[in-house]
Amino acid sequence: MNTVMQDGFGRHIDYLRLSVTDRCDFRCVYCMAEHMTFLPRQQVLSLEELHRVAAVFVGLGVRKIRLTGGEPLVRPGIVELCRRIAALPGLRELVMTSNGSQLQRLARPLAEAGVKRLNISLDSLDPERFRAITRHGDLDQVLRGIEAATRAGFERVKLNCVVMKGRNLDEVLPLVRYAIGQGIDIAFIEEMPLGEVGRARQEAFCSSDEVQQLIAREFSLHESLESSGGPARYLRLTDHPDTRIGLISPHSHNFCPSCNRVRMTVEGRLLLCLGHENALDLRALLRRHPLVDGPLIEAVQDALRSKPLRHEFDPQGDVQVVRFMNMTGG
Ligand code: SAM
Ligand code: SF4
Repeated sequence: MNTVMQDGFGRHIDYLRLSVTDRCDFRCVYCMAEHMTFLPRQQVLSLEELHRVAAVFVGLGVRKIRLTGGEPLVRPGIVELCRRIAALPGLRELVMTSNGSQLQRLARPLAEAGVKRLNISLDSLDPERFRAITRHGDLDQVLRGIEAATRAGFERVKLNCVVMKGRNLDEVLPLVRYAIGQGIDIAFIEEMPLGEVGRARQEAFCSSDEVQQLIAREFSLHESLESSGGPARYLRLTDHPDTRIGLISPHSHNFCPSCNRVRMTVEGRLLLCLGHENALDLRALLRRHPLVDGPLIEAVQDALRSKPLRHEFDPQGDVQVVRFMNMTGG
């Protein structure tokens, strides 16, 4: 089937972010509360159901799938799931976002399974700070995971850093230097107000423009029109061609007009926008119609017509979306 999915505003939707678990071995301060309750197993889509969802969306015109979570690599059977999704005819690329904790073991099997690109979260190069931000993470383990990823054969590896004043703003330059040393990209993300995480996010908010100015103090930068098919804008470092700087700016540079994506939570809720609660319960349909895809396809096409025009995040405001990022599939 050679279809194109369009929403009610004429935007082409060809990118699915598929959450494979809400669980995680970390509890990052911007993503989760310290004590979280995770979904009971029967509410979570099985590997078979996740594969079926991927196949239905590829049939509908999705060309890029990002597996995310939670931490996708804590889901048993993840490598085999990657292999099966990567083999779907019509899919251009399967990519993943990970916290890096399992990559020493899994980087190569993932690359061999057909994962083309990997985003790895890294918010600090200081072991104690890293532990404070992730609440459980071991920096050394993650750095070894990143290094394993750079050798595993992915087309690209990119670091993701959520910048917070008072926590890691002063690490922007060291993180850029680290990315240059590894010959990989790095993206800096503005924090989004998803879920009540027990701290005032607005005090830590740091705009992408501030990050850019900070980097420009040490490096010569120029704007680039490149896109990796997601929300990042890219800057090139004049003297370091192997490293691009991505800026993901949900607040300061709204990316909604070019939105090309939808998200699926691991309990089977199709989220049409990161910043809105409206969702389609695909799990019910998957389980009611185990053998025919027609009802799912119709429901997805119908839901797309109500994809909101834009998120309404306000960096000065309180929590506007009660779902946590690990439930959303960041
Ligand atoms: N566990 C994996 C990881 O950390 O990379 C994948 C899931 S995580 C939810 C995906 C991405 O969302 C990470 O890069 C993380 O830094 C980012 N993220 C989580 N909560 C966020 C928030 N409130 N605002 C902005 N980015 C957030
Ligand atoms: Fe886990 Fe990723 Fe959320 Fe951190 S950002 S708690 S690593 S899901």
